[in-house]
Amino acid sequence: MVQKFGGTSVETPQKLRAAAMRAVREFQSGRQVVVVVSAMGDQTDELIELARTIHPEPDPREMDMLMAVGEQMSVALMAIAIHALGCKAISLTGKQAGIHTDSVSSKAKIRTIDTTRLRLELEEGQIVIVAGFQGVDANDNITTLGRGGSDTTAVALAAALKADRCDIYTDVDGIYTADPRIVPTARKLDRIDYDEMLELASLGARVMQSRSVEIAKRFSVPFRVRSSADESEGTLVTQIDELEHVDVRGAALEMQEAKVTIRAVPDRPGVAAAIFGEIARNHINVDMIVQNVSADGMTDLSFTVLKSDLSAARRASEQLARTIGAGRVEVDQNIAKVSVVGIGMKSHTGVAEKMFKALADNKINIQMISTSEIKISVLIGAEAGAQALRAVHDAFELGKR
Ligand code: ADP
Ligand code: ASP
Ligand code: MG
Repeated sequence: MVQKFGGTSVETPQKLRAAAMRAVREFQSGRQVVVVVSAMGDQTDELIELARTIHPEPDPREMDMLMAVGEQMSVALMAIAIHALGCKAISLTGKQAGIHTDSVSSKAKIRTIDTTRLRLELEEGQIVIVAGFQGVDANDNITTLGRGGSDTTAVALAAALKADRCDIYTDVDGIYTADPRIVPTARKLDRIDYDEMLELASLGARVMQSRSVEIAKRFSVPFRVRSSADESEGTLVTQIDELEHVDVRGAALEMQEAKVTIRAVPDRPGVAAAIFGEIARNHINVDMIVQNVSADGMTDLSFTVLKSDLSAARRASEQLARTIGAGRVEVDQNIAKVSVVGIGMKSHTGVAEKMFKALADNKINIQMISTSEIKISVLIGAEAGAQALRAVHDAFELGKR
C-alpha cells in the first residue's frame, strides 16, 4: 500500500511520530508499505519566500533545487521515526525512487517510474519512505511537480507498483461539498467520482493536486482521502456508475488566479492562435478565455492564469500585443473564481440559472463565465469570493443531501 502524509500531518515531531506509527501498523499487519511525505508544515512556502527576499524572480532550476529540500528533510526524519519504533525503514529522494520527469521547472510531469530500487527495498523488508513532489529530468536536474505535488507522487507510485491501497492523509477527514474552512455547512462525502474530484481539484479545492486525480483515473487507482488525526474512513475517490447522478456534487473557490486583458486586438483569423501559442510556449496554463464581440474590427480579449505565472503571461502578452498591433495589456489580481461541479449537470437543466440567481441575490457581479459538461465557473471580485462560495453552496443545498 501507499500512504501519503501532507505537510500539516508531519509538521511537528509528535505528528511525525503518529504518522510513523500508522505506517508501522500497516507493515505489521503484513503489508509492504511505501510512505510518501511532504515538507513539514509551511516549509515550502518559507523556502520560496526566502529565495524571493534575495531575488524577485529567482531562476526556476535553482528554485526546484531549493524547494526539493523540504521533502528531503521530512523523509529522513520519517525513516528515523520508524527506526525509533523498532522497524526497518529507508528514505529515498525522487531520483532514488526512480521518478523521471520532463524538464519544466516547478511544474514537471512524471514520464516514467523505474520501480527496481523500490521493489528491492520492499523485498528487503523495509518500509520505504519516498520524498514527495520531486523527480529528476533526463539531465539529472532535480525537478518539482507543482504545488501539492506529493499527491501526484503518491498516486503515481500506487499506479506503478500496482498497490492495493492508496491512502492520502491530511488535515481534514475527507472530501467535502466545499472547503469546510470557508463553508461551515459543508458536508463530508463518503464517495466521489474521479471526474467530479478532478474538476473540484482543478477549480481550486486544493485538497488534492489535480494531476494526481488525472493519474488515478487513467490508471484506475482508487484512493482514500482521510484524516491523520483520527481513524475515520475518509472519502473514497473512485469511478462511480450511478443511474442518476445529482446535478451538483460540490463547489470550489479559486483565489490564486489573475486576469489578463489585451485591449483592441485586431479581429482577424490567426490572432488568438498567435496569442495563446506564445503563452503555451512559455509553459503557462490558461484557464478561462473570453473574447468580446468586436467593434470597428477590434476586440478585447481576457484570460486567466495562475498568479505565479502572471509576470510571464504579462511579458508574453505585451510582446505579442506589439507584434500584432493590439492595444494595452491590463492585469487584475483582485479576482476569485467560484465553480459548481456535478456529473448530473449533463442531464439537468436550470443549474446555471440557480447559480447566477444566488450571486445576484447577494449583489455579486459576474465578470466572466465558463462552462463544461459538468461544471460552471464564474469570475468575480476577490472580496466576494468566500461569500459567493457560501451562497452557491446553500442555493444547491449541498449541505443537506
Ligand atoms: P496537505 O498538506 O495534507 O496536502 P492541503 O492543505 O494541501 O493538505 O489540503 C487540505 C486542505 O484542503 C484542507 O485543510 C481544506 O481547507 C482544503 N479544502 C479545499 N476544498 C476542500 C474540500 N472540498 N474538501 C476538503 N478539503 C478541502
Ligand atoms: N511541499 C509541496 C508543497 O507545499 C508539495 C506538497 O505539499 O504536496 O506544495
Ligand atoms: Mg496538499
